[in-house]
Amino acid sequence: MIISDVTASLEQLAPLSYQESYDNAGLLIGNPENLLKGILVTLDVTPEVIEEAHEKGLNLIVAHHPLIFNGVKKITGKNYVERAIIQAIKNDIAVYAAHTNLDNIEGGVNSRIGALLNLTNLKFLQPLEGELVKLVTFVPTNDAERVRQVMFEAGAGHIGNYDYCSFNMNGDGTFRAGEGTNPYVGNKGEFHVEPEVRIEVVVPKSIISRVIREMISSHPYEEVAYDIYPILNSFSKAGSGMIGELKEPMPELDFLKSVKNIFNIQSVRHTNCLGKNIQKVAFCGGSGAFLIKQAIAAGADIFISSDIKYHQFFDAENRILIADIGHFESEQFTVDIFYEYLLKKFPKFAILKSEIKTNPINYI
Ligand SMILES: [Zn+2]
Repeated sequence: MIISDVTASLEQLAPLSYQESYDNAGLLIGNPENLLKGILVTLDVTPEVIEEAHEKGLNLIVAHHPLIFNGVKKITGKNYVERAIIQAIKNDIAVYAAHTNLDNIEGGVNSRIGALLNLTNLKFLQPLEGELVKLVTFVPTNDAERVRQVMFEAGAGHIGNYDYCSFNMNGDGTFRAGEGTNPYVGNKGEFHVEPEVRIEVVVPKSIISRVIREMISSHPYEEVAYDIYPILNSFSKAGSGMIGELKEPMPELDFLKSVKNIFNIQSVRHTNCLGKNIQKVAFCGGSGAFLIKQAIAAGADIFISSDIKYHQFFDAENRILIADIGHFESEQFTVDIFYEYLLKKFPKFAILKSEIKTNPINYI
């Protein structure tokens, strides 16, 4: 087992293409070909976490926050990032981050928060844009069903909670096979008309190469004609923040107290209570203030996130309750996502949760 076996598996869970444009998720340090000894999962990477991995004989750190986020032009050890980089390289420890790509998936950071809050009917607050493409191919009529099936099995044709979605149209394909060809139908050098089916499916970009590979391998033609079109539809299976509903509406203060208990928080910063019950709950783990407008537009009674600035609290405008529960606190259960997933995929390897408390913020 090598490091890239683990990183490839993590990228099946949280494709790198789902990360926000400013992010730096992926393998940040280390040779992907190195043999895997064991994995340490953590929210943050600090020199202490690298030391912990070294002491425990683990050579891959899987973190939520990328150790290298902004450009690094010198590595002299003058700050904690540079010291952690030096220590990781010295000790041959690979460092991997799944950040906004883990926030943005079903089963990711926000799904976990939604489950902790006991919400139903969870949806992404801001579905991912630019992720879907339309794939079209042309298949001889008798082979169409088989090729379509292979495309579905490779992951094409999901719309909302429907799968096996496609559109199919009969028509005539034409071609003339040239030198060096071995045509499936028709004769070399002769113009040929073949009844074909035009199959259209939507495919997320993160799996398009796999779908094309499988489609070509199941297609009877030696030259497979296909088109990939960009489409403007948003992708309902990934995105930023989430919104869900409480089974029973709750008074605002009772709900805030239950959030404090669930996340084990000493204090919650929040806007004025509006004197109504909470039912629709919008939230975003980590810095989610950019979603306040979407939360209001979606009709949420409360928006829970962190790193909300003084002036951003004014954006509530008495239309929503805004609650800041702390960055670390909102994402503290993220390590469990890595831990549970990796334990299932790599049960024979040492996988440990970091014991270092990396939250740099204290409360008195
Ligand atoms: Zn974060």
